[in-house]
Amino acid sequence: TGKFFVGGNWKCNGTKDSISKLVTELNSAKLEDDVDIVVAPPFVYIDQVKSSLTDRIEISAQNAWVGKGGAFTGEISVEQLKDIGCKWVIHGHSERRHVIGEDSQFIGKKSAYALTQGLKVIACIGEKLEEREAGKTFDVCYEQLKAFADNVPSWDDVVIAYEPVWAIGTGKVASPQQAQEVHVAVREWLSKNVSAEVASQTRIIYGGSVNGGNSAELAKQEDIDGFLVGGASLKGPEFASICNSVT
Ligand code: 13P
Repeated sequence: TGKFFVGGNWKCNGTKDSISKLVTELNSAKLEDDVDIVVAPPFVYIDQVKSSLTDRIEISAQNAWVGKGGAFTGEISVEQLKDIGCKWVIHGHSERRHVIGEDSQFIGKKSAYALTQGLKVIACIGEKLEEREAGKTFDVCYEQLKAFADNVPSWDDVVIAYEPVWAIGTGKVASPQQAQEVHVAVREWLSKNVSAEVASQTRIIYGGSVNGGNSAELAKQEDIDGFLVGGASLKGPEFASICNSVT
């Protein structure tokens, strides 16, 4: 399924000083060759990170506007992100779905626009606790996947992140079995609804309370192709150990 992939989503955290310290830690970390590593700083610090961070690590935005820039107060365009050196964008994160209120079709359209302009997409899906408890985990993930599938021109530059909402920022990590079960279901859905090739080649990464202590066990699961890390990505040495957890 391609290289192991680890993303660090810094969310709305950091200052010039704390980010400078984190970049120094990442620059001096020993990182295995066989892993793709991406970090997503807040927009306002992307330029600082781009000019100070090792090229070994690529940069992602945490969001982008759905189309070409212009009169859209407060938005950041895909073209601007490319201009400052971003290679990736995260779309469909649960905080944007459930705190900010983005719906699946809008997320699908944003992903499509980013891909057509040459940005790669980390496409997030995942169920809330009440949805899991009601037995709707797969249905929720399939609905979110379908909105990506209905819009994206190709899956070549897409990484799927399964992030159960109840595991995000809670310290309640999914068990390796719980994560593996959904990753398999996602792959089967892709096989049935997109193609066998896309199903076997698309990386499906897990997010939700991943840390230096649980990443190795999760990484052993056959269908876990990497991680999207929140809180623990703000600590350089711990993030590096998660990046190295597959070897
Ligand atoms: P935590 O690792 O802090 O649970 O966040 C996960 C996440 O939302 C990454 O996008």
